[in-house]
Amino acid sequence: VYAFFYLALPVYQPKAGIVHIFRINAFAMNVIACALGRIVFRMRVASFLDKKEIERKNRQLNDIACRDSMTRLYNHESALEKLGEELRRATRIRYPLSVMMLDIDDFKKINDRYGHMAGDRIIVRIAQILKRTCRATDILCRYGGDEYFIIMPDTQREDAAFLAERIMRSIRSVEFEGGLAVTVSGGISEYKGSAQTAEELMKSADFRLYQAKTRGKNRFEAADGEAAVQTSFF
Ligand code: GH3
Ligand code: MG
Repeated sequence: VYAFFYLALPVYQPKAGIVHIFRINAFAMNVIACALGRIVFRMRVASFLDKKEIERKNRQLNDIACRDSMTRLYNHESALEKLGEELRRATRIRYPLSVMMLDIDDFKKINDRYGHMAGDRIIVRIAQILKRTCRATDILCRYGGDEYFIIMPDTQREDAAFLAERIMRSIRSVEFEGGLAVTVSGGISEYKGSAQTAEELMKSADFRLYQAKTRGKNRFEAADGEAAVQTSFF
């Protein structure tokens, strides 16, 4: 634009002195505009980068708040929140959903015999096995202590029982330190529809876990009185 102005000016302004002054003024204005433009551009880039950094930090903080620091699974607080979200989705899209409550058998004895640090490593190891064994769409939580909670969207109780079997098999195939044989028990429950709340569904899986424990451990219970997976099945 300046080049056009520079060349076209003499056509409208016959006085050479005024043309000269106009050209100098316009040039000065251009320099000032460029400098200001550069400053504004840099400020915008800086604020964009700041915003990205803040978003990244927020994501990190959110992740820290939602996850268990030891296993990196979702923590107790997030478990119910995630379940609520998934139940709403399952109701809307109309697909089945199952949940699993899983607990390490006789973990106190393991702690007593091998120490708390070894116990911690087992908790982490089981979390890794769960990550490896479950589907990418399953939501894994450490419910507390030696207890895990798994949300399985688009999964019927029978498929959840298959997964339970796979989990038991994976845990059996792993060599824990000191040649320790670790087993787990679990309870499976399928979502009954919008009449059932997240708390009720969780409680029902927990009750089945309790049944699995009282019926001898190293097993999963799915339906009332009916064992979904037992060690004797292998
Ligand atoms: P059960 O077969 O009935 O589950 O018996 P259990 O001995 O495993 O009993 P329970 O599940 O009630 O106890 C869990 C124990 O896990 C209690 C606590 O000492 C231990 N524990 C809880 N959190 C941690 C942890 O982060 N690290 C370690 N090492 N131990 C933990
Ligand atoms: Mg236990």
